[in-house]
Amino acid sequence: MTRIAVLGSTNMDLVAYTARAPERGETVTGREFRTVPGGKGANQAVAAARAGGEVTMIGAVGDDAYGAQLRDGLEHAGVDTDLLHTAEGPSGTAHIVVDDSGSNAIVVIPGANGVVTALGPGEIAAIAAAELLLMQLELPLSAVVEGARAARSQGVRTILTPSPVQPLPDELLDHIDLLVPNEYEAAELSGQAEPHAAAQILLRQVPEVIITLGAKGCLYAARGGEPVLFAAPEVSAVDTTGAGDTFVGALAVALGEGRPVAKALAFASSAAALCVQKPGASTSMPYRSEIEADAV
Ligand code: ATP
Repeated sequence: MTRIAVLGSTNMDLVAYTARAPERGETVTGREFRTVPGGKGANQAVAAARAGGEVTMIGAVGDDAYGAQLRDGLEHAGVDTDLLHTAEGPSGTAHIVVDDSGSNAIVVIPGANGVVTALGPGEIAAIAAAELLLMQLELPLSAVVEGARAARSQGVRTILTPSPVQPLPDELLDHIDLLVPNEYEAAELSGQAEPHAAAQILLRQVPEVIITLGAKGCLYAARGGEPVLFAAPEVSAVDTTGAGDTFVGALAVALGEGRPVAKALAFASSAAALCVQKPGASTSMPYRSEIEADAV
């Protein structure tokens, strides 16, 4: 089993569905409210666990009711939460308004995620014991840099999803093996809208890049080779939320099993394509048996 450590965020998504989002100062009556466990870190952890990885989640929830629910959800998915600390105060929350056109507006409040500014010996040991470390940018950058550095010093492969996108310091990029931005993030980080051109720029800083391109698939590029476009399976998408996190979680499992890149991308693409065919994020992430039945 691939051992994967995830250093990342855990949020409760508070989603209000309404015909029309309110204007500034206006109050509207919505239709439905849902609480959905989320956060990019937790989503990648669930995706990797369902895809067959042995996953440890490193981060923090609050000491509120959401914190307990978020921990339960991860444990239910088979994720080890011993290093998911309970911090005083509220859990991270994402306040999401979705209107009938499917557009959304989101306010994220980091809550407990914001207290993870440094790592302790337990976290460093868990990273060292893993084969891969998955990171995103919803925790304070200081912790992400520390985790990446610790992983690299122990020969643990590092994968970064640069979301929410922000300028990345060399002290982080120097310790990243594989960067997985989506098309928008790749353009923001490289200053190049065209994915091939963006990949060439990003390869100056990291050895491997995968730019995810939604329904178009993904572009894989490694130093010294030509970028290769991998098409996504043609499916009818219902809800693409969580597709990127499903892709990364499954990819990590496949890479950790030593699958060649093309096979690992096929596995990740199948997982993400299964995810988009169901509503929700973590709830729509497929299990290994479903992915294997689907992957070519
Ligand atoms: P999200 O923020 O919605 O989780 P993202 O912006 O991080 O996603 P995308 O590039 O949209 O990431 O999608 C990630 C991967 O999911 C793609 O590379 C592809 O493999 C798969 N995918 C996304 N949308 C579709 C789709 N409509 N059909 C098939 N596969 C899809």
